[in-house]
Amino acid sequence: MDMEKIARLTRELLIEIGENPDREGLLKTPERVAESWSFLTSGYRSDMKTVINGAVFESEANNMILCRDIEMYSLCEHHMLPFFGSCTIGYIAKKKVIGVSKLARIVDHYSRRLQIQERLTAQIARAVMDSVDAEGVGVIIDARHMCMTMRGVGKQHSSMTTSSVLGSFHSNSATRTEFLNLAAK
Ligand code: ZN
Repeated sequence: MDMEKIARLTRELLIEIGENPDREGLLKTPERVAESWSFLTSGYRSDMKTVINGAVFESEANNMILCRDIEMYSLCEHHMLPFFGSCTIGYIAKKKVIGVSKLARIVDHYSRRLQIQERLTAQIARAVMDSVDAEGVGVIIDARHMCMTMRGVGKQHSSMTTSSVLGSFHSNSATRTEFLNLAAK
């Protein structure tokens, strides 16, 4: 990322919205905004192999593994405004399991970029499926969108829930029900 260019563009944006970028409070804002965007979009520059980085372990377990309420912050691609909430991931291992902190890293990898919630949910499910060659995976994201609450229709308390199920979570209704029941607790 060209940080100087983003700072320059931010300065222009400040002028266009009616601000004076030379007033004291805004002097360092373009540089801060560039730093902030670098972090918030770091998913574009992170590599899934590095994210998982060997944290996949052999296991005999074939029961359901559930990690609930992983914090998630992303940016909607239509307005470049935040949407945020929680992500619950469940999977059934065949022979491999993944370190629990790595599930959170997978969430960060796909959320730190411009997204829509439906695609984010599906990408996380696919990445978990592929990383451990799971029998099945389910992902649920519940999020509030600032583009809905701060602007436009102003629905301040609405949230959106999306889910993605793969493998046995898709094909076996008992497995899917077990996941949904565990996730709801
Ligand atoms: Zn939006």
